[in-house]
Amino acid sequence: MNEKELAKECDRILETRKFRDYPGAKNGLQVSHGRQVKKIGWAVDADMESIRKAGKEKVDFLVVHHGLFWGSSAIDRKIRAKRIREAKRLGVAIYSSHLPLDAHPELGNSIGLLRALGLGDARRKPFGVAMGKAIGWKVEGGRWKLRDLVKRMALLRCEPRPSRGSSFAGLASRVKVVAAGPVVCRKIGIVTGGFGDLDQVVRAGLDTLVTGEADYPTEVKARELGINLILGGHWETEVFGVMEIARIFRGKEVGNRKELECLAADYFVTDGSGSAVHPNDFLSPVGKKKTTKG
Ligand SMILES: [Zn+2]
Repeated sequence: MNEKELAKECDRILETRKFRDYPGAKNGLQVSHGRQVKKIGWAVDADMESIRKAGKEKVDFLVVHHGLFWGSSAIDRKIRAKRIREAKRLGVAIYSSHLPLDAHPELGNSIGLLRALGLGDARRKPFGVAMGKAIGWKVEGGRWKLRDLVKRMALLRCEPRPSRGSSFAGLASRVKVVAAGPVVCRKIGIVTGGFGDLDQVVRAGLDTLVTGEADYPTEVKARELGINLILGGHWETEVFGVMEIARIFRGKEVGNRKELECLAADYFVTDGSGSAVHPNDFLSPVGKKKTTKG
């Protein structure tokens, strides 16, 4: 499959055309090399670290959630030009999907997080409108202890990334909680990344919002409104979609016989004890064992 066909197939699966996204998102193929794709990789961010790792592992089609075109300051443009140059030099095509990948009902970030929190069997409805479309879920019809939800969120651990200076020690504390609502949650909103629209939360009658990050004023308001916030990290809550997209192409036929290889160009999530916690298993990154140090 060449990169254009593959990008088209991703667009079809994700229903990219149905979405209006933020100006910088530019869903679709962002860097192109015009060749056949042999190895697909995934990363949350199209940053230099992911591009270089993809190049090193001979990934020629990198699926990302945060693409290259955010921001237009001089610094933004400089960083972007460097990344594009590096991707071209290394022969890495970059396909980006932002809101379509948050929203997808089967492969998306929000449904992935919902399942990882153990809420897959609960009643759910679309929630969390961004640019005119719901990209998350609200879950109701059950009783869930706030403590248990936080614990599950804390289990979504990632490998330390040198550039982020993170380490496993005390990683559970990386989940930020504003415990201003009930200790037993009944109506939970789940929207990955940085969702802080408390108007929508209040209108939907939710007592708890799970997202990646929220700004400080949102935390202060949530306290006064009596709403629980569980903030699991922007990156950590948005690994699901790219991983799923890469996974569906794994092993697919290319041309006559060759199979597409698939690997993570970014890092992956484990529970810190060495076993993966994602319900659908993780793709094993090439050159690394599935297990990580705890
Ligand atoms: Zn995001």
